[in-house]
Amino acid sequence: MSISRIDFLSPCPGRGCNSPEPDRVITWSHSPCSGSREWLSNQANIICKDCGYQFFILDGSFACKYHANEYKAAGFTELTHAISVLISNPEVDESDLAFLMGVTQRIKSRAKERGII
Ligand SMILES: [Zn+2]
Ligand SMILES: [Zn+2]
Repeated sequence: MSISRIDFLSPCPGRGCNSPEPDRVITWSHSPCSGSREWLSNQANIICKDCGYQFFILDGSFACKYHANEYKAAGFTELTHAISVLISNPEVDESDLAFLMGVTQRIKSRAKERGII
């Protein structure tokens, strides 16, 4: 069965993030509603589990503990790195892999449409 969404756990996709642990996986939350968890959909949208707000992942801004007060817009390179870290997790099974590859393709095609890559 194909997966439509997963819990959104990933390294920081913020452009120019200065984390000394760029592969560290973080549990993301939606700060405007103080939500606790988010999903990543197969359309590469982030969906807040608490308020339902959703946005395309490339349109998001992210603050990890290394820039806690500075929301950095998602960077294409950082985002594809973040997903490659998830793909390299040995616990990823075939359906997870298909999901993550699909998300990567979606991000790439939208980035091409926008002239980012
Ligand atoms: Zn960061
Ligand atoms: Zn929310």
